[in-house]
Amino acid sequence: AKELGRNDYQHYAQALNSQSTQRLALENSLYQALERRELLVYYQPQLDSTTGEITHMEALVRWQHPQLGFISPEVFIPLAEQNGLIIQIGKWVLQTACTQAKAWQVMGMPPMTIAVNLSPRQLKHRQLLQTIKHTLTEIGLEPHYLELEITESATLQDVDSTRSILTDLQSMGISIALDDFGTGYSSLSYLKQFPFHSLKIDQSFVRDLLTNHQDVAIVEALLALGRGLNIRVIAEGVETVELKNLLETLGCYYMQGYYFSRPLPSEEATKVLMLKGSK
Ligand code: C2E
Ligand code: CA
Ligand code: CA
Ligand code: CA
Repeated sequence: AKELGRNDYQHYAQALNSQSTQRLALENSLYQALERRELLVYYQPQLDSTTGEITHMEALVRWQHPQLGFISPEVFIPLAEQNGLIIQIGKWVLQTACTQAKAWQVMGMPPMTIAVNLSPRQLKHRQLLQTIKHTLTEIGLEPHYLELEITESATLQDVDSTRSILTDLQSMGISIALDDFGTGYSSLSYLKQFPFHSLKIDQSFVRDLLTNHQDVAIVEALLALGRGLNIRVIAEGVETVELKNLLETLGCYYMQGYYFSRPLPSEEATKVLMLKGSK
């Protein structure tokens, strides 16, 4: 039995080792990803479904690894969040997205807001306000064309300082969106305390909306909450026309999802905007 136990341990240690080795390798190449220009920003439209107008474009980061190929942000963002690299990556995404938004304005595209995801660690970072102010000034983008998407887990970490940061951002004219709305623990009390401009209903409630009555009840409740608090509500993960129609029936008119467009590289997103503008 001892013998077996030891083998088990060795297997375990080996598995653990190769896992942490992989992680370490990925982490090391992430450090170089920025300077090697392996990171890209894609853009996904958010629409007003009644008019078809693009109200926002969400910036979503991509990593094109030279050997491993495409690595999902679901993998490398949490890694960057842990090792602190998210500060540099986040700064770069913000700068890239705002530069793109300004370029679209200069090209005469219809006005829309650029939405940028902010991780919990960025929100806690002392220089956040300064970084954002500096970026906007440098690029010449007015603050009301920027929306920052944060998750509830970010607001939970230090309520008082988060509230003060979000209030400062809001008074600069920047909008704040609550991302993955409905998946957290304390949405209701936090809605009152934080200056949210938009609530993004998480995909998990939208996906099965056509067949799941519970999801319908939840989405209806979230929409009622938004109406009552006078906060814009947008549904994520809208993949079909049937979903779009059902959401409209429920009174949801802001949407984002593959039905309208996948996240697109800069040039393709520009083409989509040009088509909209010339309508
Ligand atoms: P998120 O902010 O909730 O972004 C929405 C995700 O859903 C994106 O995945 C988007 O491509 C995907 N999506 C959009 N429409 C549909 C749809 O109709 N169906 C389905 N199945 N999926 C849809 P993506 O781009 O892989 O990003 C995953 C997550 O990574 C994001 O979730 C966000 O939490 C994080 N992330 C991405 N870019 C950044 C960034 O620049 N900074 C930070 N901090 N996090 C980021
Ligand atoms: Ca988001
Ligand atoms: Ca989301
Ligand atoms: Ca999400």
